Amino acid sequence: MTLTPSRATGTRVSGALRLPSAGLRDQHDRPLRDLRISVTDRCNFRCVYCMPRAVFGRDYAFLDRDELLSFDEIERIARIAVAHGVRKLRLTGGEPLLRRGIEELIARLSALRTPTDERVEIALTTNGSALAVKAQALKEAGLDRLTVSVDTLDDELFQRMNDVRFPVSRVLQGIDAAHAVGIGPIKINMVVKRGLNDHEIEAMATRFRGTPYTLRFIEYMDVGTSNGWELDEVVPSAEIVDRVGALFPLEPVGATVTGETAQRWRYADGSGEIGLISSVTNTFCGTCNRARISTEGRLFTCLFATEGHDLRALLRGGASDDELSRAMAGIWGARDDRYSEIRSALTPELRAARQRIEMSYIGG
Ligand code: SAM
Ligand code: SF4
Ligand code: SF4
Repeated sequence: MTLTPSRATGTRVSGALRLPSAGLRDQHDRPLRDLRISVTDRCNFRCVYCMPRAVFGRDYAFLDRDELLSFDEIERIARIAVAHGVRKLRLTGGEPLLRRGIEELIARLSALRTPTDERVEIALTTNGSALAVKAQALKEAGLDRLTVSVDTLDDELFQRMNDVRFPVSRVLQGIDAAHAVGIGPIKINMVVKRGLNDHEIEAMATRFRGTPYTLRFIEYMDVGTSNGWELDEVVPSAEIVDRVGALFPLEPVGATVTGETAQRWRYADGSGEIGLISSVTNTFCGTCNRARISTEGRLFTCLFATEGHDLRALLRGGASDDELSRAMAGIWGARDDRYSEIRSALTPELRAARQRIEMSYIGG
């Protein structure tokens, strides 16, 4: 790992890291606000667009337990990131609810405070398979926000897409259980792949309109190399807005938070809104304030980065909090990523030659 000099110096005062209130800025003046932490590279689903069984089969070498960051290590990185300006921590994976003791980790993270003594938001992205059982414990641990992936309501297709015969009804029950215990806001993520589930766009909009849940349509992305992504499999968000709008008139809503990934549209009759994450057709690198930590402690400054920075080596090599803090500041300060903006300029050959990390390794 190359560490460039820090642009913001962390000093330790009374047990808390104090940094300039402006926090870190990267090469394009983007702050660090959102840290996504992958807590496991394993999953009980084999979604065809994420962990196809042909690649993630019986012989696939998942990480050993001692390779994963421990809860102590995750908490330490998160605390330093919060001192550097992070205001939202999102747990993801693989399937984060498979990580034993996840509630304990959530409780620890939810006890973190910013330099001005505020809580940070704790969010989780899940396939929902264990939600019905875990909802109460997650709420008690301090989980604020939840995103659940549901790509179709057609049970036969849902089971085919997760490729483990998991019924959609159990995921929907889990979502209702999470709402019933007071977790919220809850968002539903639908990755749309042309020819696979795009005929479900209207049914999904109809089902979640007027509910407490916000449906978000995600353009199918070229993350990793195992899903064989092709541009013509992407359904552009503009087409989705047209199709949903033809059923239920929509009007645009301005972004409420800088760095928000979704374009928001509300139903003109007041029955809620939808979001569109247009990572392919309408990129948002210019305001991207997210960093990701892989399951074994590599810090990635872009979902499409080819290499991560090995924070675990620093943690296990005895680095002090100040050294870790300076390393993080140096990495963010040197950040120049804007892959989605340059994607269209790459030829298919150049794109294929680029080693990309898998979504199940780094999380969404
Ligand atoms: N297992 C959890 C889940 O499915 O919600 C969390 C991890 S999963 C990698 C995070 C999100 O990434 C999910 O919403 C999933 O649908 C999305 N995802 C996976 N592969 C994708 C791709 N190629 N393009 C767009 N989204 C993708
Ligand atoms: Fe597992 Fe989530 Fe990937 Fe599906 S999208 S295989 S549930 S990690
Ligand atoms: Fe952020 Fe990289 Fe995605 Fe651009 S391509 S929005 S820089 S993660």
